[in-house]
Amino acid sequence: MKASDSVKNYPSRLREYANYSLRSIKRVCKDIGPRFPGSDGEKKAHDYFFKELEGCCDTVVKEEFAVHPRAFLGWVPLCCYMAVIGCVLFYFGLAAVTLALAAVALLLIVLEFVFYRQPLDPFYPKKTSANVIGVKNPSGEIKRKFIISGHCDSSGEWTYTYLGGPVLLKIVLFAGVGGLVLLLAAVVAAFVNGYALGFTLEGPQSPFVNVVRYVLLGYIPVFLAASRFSNPKKPVLGANDDLTGCFAAVSAAKFLTDCGLALENTQLNVLITGSEEAGLRGAKDFAKRHAGEYKEVPTMFLGIDTLRDYDDMAVYTRDMSGTVKNGEQACALLREGAANAGLNLPCKTITLGSSDAAAITQAGLQAAALAAMDPAPARYYHTRLDNETNLDLKTIEAGINVCLETMFLFDEKGFG
Ligand SMILES: [Zn+2]
Repeated sequence: MKASDSVKNYPSRLREYANYSLRSIKRVCKDIGPRFPGSDGEKKAHDYFFKELEGCCDTVVKEEFAVHPRAFLGWVPLCCYMAVIGCVLFYFGLAAVTLALAAVALLLIVLEFVFYRQPLDPFYPKKTSANVIGVKNPSGEIKRKFIISGHCDSSGEWTYTYLGGPVLLKIVLFAGVGGLVLLLAAVVAAFVNGYALGFTLEGPQSPFVNVVRYVLLGYIPVFLAASRFSNPKKPVLGANDDLTGCFAAVSAAKFLTDCGLALENTQLNVLITGSEEAGLRGAKDFAKRHAGEYKEVPTMFLGIDTLRDYDDMAVYTRDMSGTVKNGEQACALLREGAANAGLNLPCKTITLGSSDAAAITQAGLQAAALAAMDPAPARYYHTRLDNETNLDLKTIEAGINVCLETMFLFDEKGFG
């Protein structure tokens, strides 16, 4: 059965849950405010969602985990300062030390950002975050499980996206990474010219090395500017990213409960993750604890992250800066669910960054991500503009529709 056939007046029901989401997002923004991973704000959001889920699920649990929230983007200032020191050392001829610094910086970027590993965690303060999980059982035997998820934490403000939108963001990013590559090239060139342990200021130098010495000095302000890329002391409200996803997920359970419905053979799990913005830590913790039990029956994870830009709504089949391929069956089912909701959604890649679905995919479950955000990225992305005055009812409603249709479709036929 399609979701649209499950109740009379489905369109007005949908509108009801879009309005519920809108109202609730405004309330969370006003009463709780920013929700940086591991902060008091995030804790209050956990309690808020716990109560919401108690009203529409059979059981609700909160699972706490340790997180080092400042570590995730901690590589940005760290690598920038290492680059600054490298520039200075290179100027004074210490090419070998510069090479070591640049290599460590690049390794940190690849591990922390491309692969979402956690080498810096031990160096930053430990906090407690949590996931909240509401479970609603089907009327019959449990043959499948459907996890629908959003993250309730919010990011520190991305300085340059706010100041100059995606263009300035890209300029700073490319200038920063480009500078690091230039630094490495300079060191390699120095070595090629025979300065195995560094060149001397007095000795003969290649013209390239001589020029680059000064170019790198001139680059120092760029590295210093890039170090201010994200501001953890100024967390944003995250009205769209990702309260829209959280309330779409809660809406799925509310819809069933309010309408007196139950799925036939699918257990619905509403998962509100914490610390997504600290490197998918909530999804990783959930996967570590539960992947085994969810693998006992066919399980689909649907991660929703930002429902704001209607024309950009898409199924994200590739995740984690393109390095992770989300579940083929889950993505296909999500596209079919969207078709039942009257939408022909394209497949897209998260080219810079990641969603919770990637962590679930990595744990071996079938996961898909749904998002509706200008991938440029949008001007509001991780800035103070992502607030309760910048919501789009039509997109929220369409997102809820896609979630409901996908859930009903999965209950009807699983991945088959
Ligand atoms: Zn998000």
